[in-house]
Amino acid sequence: MLDFTFSDEHEEFRQTLRGFGRKELLPGYTARSASTEFPFELLAKIGRLGVLGIGLPEKFGGTGHDDPVLLGVATEALAYGDVNLASAPIQVGLVGAQLLHGSEEVQERYLPPVIAGTENLAIALTEPGSGSDASALRTTARRVPGGWLLNGEKTAISWAMSASASLVYAREEGSTRSRGVSCFVVDMASEGVEVRHMMGMGCLPLGWGSIYFDNVFVPDSHLIGEEGRGFQVAMNHFDFSRAAIGLMCLGAAEQCLEEAAVYATQRETFGQPIAQYQGVSFPLAEHATYIEGARWVCYRALWSRQENRSHTSLASMSKWWAPVVAKDAIEASMKIHGNLGYSAEFPLQQRFRDVMAYLVADGTAEIQKGIISKEILQKGTVSL
Ligand SMILES: Cc1cc2nc3c(=O)[nH]c(=O)nc-3n(C[C@H](O)[C@H](O)[C@H](O)COP(=O)(O)OP(=O)(O)OC[C@H]3O[C@@H](n4cnc5c(N)ncnc54)[C@H](O)[C@@H]3O)c2cc1C
Repeated sequence: MLDFTFSDEHEEFRQTLRGFGRKELLPGYTARSASTEFPFELLAKIGRLGVLGIGLPEKFGGTGHDDPVLLGVATEALAYGDVNLASAPIQVGLVGAQLLHGSEEVQERYLPPVIAGTENLAIALTEPGSGSDASALRTTARRVPGGWLLNGEKTAISWAMSASASLVYAREEGSTRSRGVSCFVVDMASEGVEVRHMMGMGCLPLGWGSIYFDNVFVPDSHLIGEEGRGFQVAMNHFDFSRAAIGLMCLGAAEQCLEEAAVYATQRETFGQPIAQYQGVSFPLAEHATYIEGARWVCYRALWSRQENRSHTSLASMSKWWAPVVAKDAIEASMKIHGNLGYSAEFPLQQRFRDVMAYLVADGTAEIQKGIISKEILQKGTVSL
């Protein structure tokens, strides 16, 4: 039977996090977004709400059972307050899921602080010569007694400036494409690691940057998953993060639309509130419709993941469409605010700049459409 309602547990969590997002995160969002420092004290508060341990082992502070829908609910709700902080549960979800393929030593070192929100890890896949074509990466891992030596450069990496370690994808010398790529946990304080900050148009607190590896020694215990199969593990988890990113962008857009609706009833021109003009009220209706449609694609992807159903195309639909829907809704909300929509003192333009990142990060629209169209062309339809 079809049921589009959240379970009681999900609904309660959603209300708690929406309240938290609006009360604790929203007031400082604009000021925090202008800083390149990540607010770990707020991340720890989010950790205490149980958001960062969803699906991770109880012995490290997690919930113990996988619940991708709950993670989606959390990111959408937190994005009402602060898009950048709302991205942390997605990063932790991706990092945590990969660390579970690592040694006990690595899990004990990194999972407790990541779940508590006191530390985070970067995911270092993209390189100057390989982004969409990720398996063209060139960073190398050379076998030496007791471990590996890493050499190469990663770029456009979120959390590069504040992470205590990164998951680094590197290939065996002489290997090509995805074969021979392994994943390693590299402590950012290791000898030979250097980071350089990159300024973006938004997402400043995420500490975007390049990471350089110059003969960096990584011990055997820091290999994640099987040697030479790191790429496959990473790709599987993107099916979760793509849907969650969609919901995060939509959460920010929903907040903008609500602000625009309030403003439209208060602002008067020509003797009446601007909400009386269909030129103002119809965009509210149109963008609310697009958001509603996109939300359910994202939730369906997460639900399908939970139910072990095919969801790669749904995740790609979420990833290419929801950020576009969100960006357009935010732009419409800015326009309804007139000059105030452009003002740096209002959060609308900041949300626009932050959400723009997700048109590219985690895979561009063209790459997502390639995944969906491949399935359509092979099977005649997407398997839903
Ligand atoms: C804010 C932000 C945060 C990021 N964080 C991280 C991170 O934490 N870790 C990480 O590893 N990476 C990160 N990235 C990098 C991101 O994953 C890549 O930028 C993205 O995958 C695109 O790669 P590229 O920039 O090299 O673009 P390219 O791959 O060079 O693509 C350039 C253009 O060509 C198009 N294109 C490429 N191939 C095709 C094709 N086959 N068909 C049609 N069009 C195509 C693309 O869609 C794009 O429009 C981040 C990026 C951003 C913007």
